Amino acid sequence: MYEVKLHEKHVEKFKNQYPLIFKEGIIGYQLLESAKLEEGTLLKLVDERGKYVATGYLGHQNKGIGWVLTRNEKEKIDLAYFQRKIYQSIEKRLGLFSNPKTNAFRVFNGEGDGIGGLTIDFYNGYYLINWYSEGIYHYKSLIVEALKNAVEYDGIYEKLRFDHLESEHNDGFIAGKEANFPLVVKENGVNISVFFNEGAMVGVFLDQREVRKSIRNNYSKGKTVLNTFSYTGVFSVFAAIGGAKSVTSVDLAKRSLEHTQTNFELNKLPLEPHPILVEDVFHYFKYAHKKGLTFDLVILDPPSYAKSKDFTFSAEKDYPELLADAIRITKKGGIIVASNNSSTISLDKFKQIIGRGFNIANERFEIVEIHQLPKDFRTHYLYEESNYLKVVFIKVSK
Ligand code: SAH
Repeated sequence: MYEVKLHEKHVEKFKNQYPLIFKEGIIGYQLLESAKLEEGTLLKLVDERGKYVATGYLGHQNKGIGWVLTRNEKEKIDLAYFQRKIYQSIEKRLGLFSNPKTNAFRVFNGEGDGIGGLTIDFYNGYYLINWYSEGIYHYKSLIVEALKNAVEYDGIYEKLRFDHLESEHNDGFIAGKEANFPLVVKENGVNISVFFNEGAMVGVFLDQREVRKSIRNNYSKGKTVLNTFSYTGVFSVFAAIGGAKSVTSVDLAKRSLEHTQTNFELNKLPLEPHPILVEDVFHYFKYAHKKGLTFDLVILDPPSYAKSKDFTFSAEKDYPELLADAIRITKKGGIIVASNNSSTISLDKFKQIIGRGFNIANERFEIVEIHQLPKDFRTHYLYEESNYLKVVFIKVSK
């Protein structure tokens, strides 16, 4: 255990349960750096008088240098500790575990469930652990043991989301029996294919569950739909099941074609009315505008940052133009579902961005629905950055 003194001006924050340990909060941070502590080292956070405030672990991420684990000096960070945390997180998701229509959801969401840097997702019998720093990975054997004790499982997999030597790792299989990918999971009765062997993305973004449900139930019937940045086409499938006349999916990545077809087939949907295009969305917008194509519903879910052949997209600076492009090919009275998952853009800021987009396109709008993270993506009330998702349903005025 390494003792770390907190700055007077930040100590209240930690006493009030702030979860992220950050450089500026520490007195003599240089000292800590030069001590070359092993990732995962437990840190005893004390105030300037040396009084105990909290215990955390050292784990460098793009945000901060570690996370608080407990505010009880007597609480040991051992198997029983991780066991308690995982039991508590499962208890909060019993409704999802017993939901016959959905078997893919988040079981443990980092600091929202008391341990920053760690997430655990459930995919129809398989658990996927994401380690966001070497520091939390240090506790792997205890955490895996705790998970094994807490749940029944077909298999357990992991992903290392920090820099490491790729060659040291296989597809992340840890325990139980190996899955045959793609694995088929269910969400609100819809089949979705999932895979753990294609990098960080697994085929579905679980945090958009409520958005997909709403698109299917309330916005798709009889409509023409354009799903941009469509990835594996999960939004497209929900729109098609919701009765859309036609759904066009557009994504630059070649793999998206096959994955999208698979998802359509898994739900016994015909492919003919639903074109899947492997193409740059920005080019497609130009093409559609020139051809005079218009849609009733346009889904806009770009990555926060993406590079294509001749253009680097950053949500922060390019979203208004992107939205303006979408507006130009949305029918009057139609709906745009605009999603943003960048933690540095608040909902208010995103609304301003939306306003700018409509200014550029010289159209008016009305916000009809807003979604943020679903309940299983628990957030920490003092750590707003973890509440990253904003999805706004916008009606283009007639
Ligand atoms: N909306 C998807 C997730 C999108 S992930 C879903 O809900 O499942 C981001 C996707 O954007 C990736 O599949 C990536 O290939 C694609 N992408 C990035 N830049 C693009 C561009 N310029 N044109 C088309 N697709 C792009």
